[in-house]
Amino acid sequence: MVVVVFHNDLIAHNHWEGHPESPMRLQALQRKLEKEGLLDIHVTAKEVGEEALLRIHSRRMIDKVKGGKGIPLDPDTMLREETFSLACLSAGVAMEAVRRTMEGEPAIALTRPPGHHAGPDYSSGFCYFNNIALAADAAGVRVAIVDIDAHHGNGTQDIFYERDDVLYISLHEEGIFPGTGRVEETGSGKGEGYNVNIPLPHGAGNRSFTEAMDRIIEPIVKQYRPELLLVSLGVDAHYADRYSTLRVNSSVYLEMCRRLIAIAPEGRITFVLEGGYHLRATAEVVHGIIAHLRGEESRSEYVDESEEPPQAARYLQRAYELHSQHWDL
Ligand SMILES: [Zn+2]
Repeated sequence: MVVVVFHNDLIAHNHWEGHPESPMRLQALQRKLEKEGLLDIHVTAKEVGEEALLRIHSRRMIDKVKGGKGIPLDPDTMLREETFSLACLSAGVAMEAVRRTMEGEPAIALTRPPGHHAGPDYSSGFCYFNNIALAADAAGVRVAIVDIDAHHGNGTQDIFYERDDVLYISLHEEGIFPGTGRVEETGSGKGEGYNVNIPLPHGAGNRSFTEAMDRIIEPIVKQYRPELLLVSLGVDAHYADRYSTLRVNSSVYLEMCRRLIAIAPEGRITFVLEGGYHLRATAEVVHGIIAHLRGEESRSEYVDESEEPPQAARYLQRAYELHSQHWDL
């Protein structure tokens, strides 16, 4: 039906008081699942080992995270003594979810710290190791990753930029952290065409997300014919979230996820949590996905509609034209 992978220890991960990527994020998810009577369906996971990390990340970077002594790694990301083992555990949660999916069950990995800003040789933006990239690589099959976090997944892009066995598609807001994700960044060498960025302007919302799905994401995933579909599930493009100006509501988030579930090969889909800092909105979307995979209804509280900025259509048209050079759109 659906496997929810979660580990209580991940609640302990903490940057500093008032940091948006806070323990309360997982606690809110836990409370929501408890309230819906779903907490008992979760399974747990183990830390990934260093050999697995080394398949994606450099020795220098692993040692840097390991040596954490209470000094920030960048202005947003703290390194503490326990960071290394918790980052390995978060990656382990993603790996376990993908392992269960490959055995035939869709899964959702409640990962934190998140991962998509961690590249081959760097940790940044609340991320230490790239959970979804480690899980994608370990699956050993043809994978499509669809990243719907408001921020561009620069780490995931960099890791797979020259590979054609992992397709990376990112829908994100232009001009915010990390500043990458231009539409012209399409991959290189063997990976040319397999990196698909769809940047959106400030204030874009429901219509842009839906149109990007209709015109670009769905046709490309179908043509790529992955053996496994992974979703970098960031909920910070939500209008309730302060960490982007995107204005997607819960219904559109859930509709995107339902459509991704519908095109996943033989139901092989894993959602891996990235950002999402509004506790109730994130919990509502995560619960909605689980409920849908269980064949149950869910009700959304955050369903406001907003005006699309006038330049949004031009952004989508540009992405559509550019990606049409590689795909039949
Ligand atoms: Zn984000």
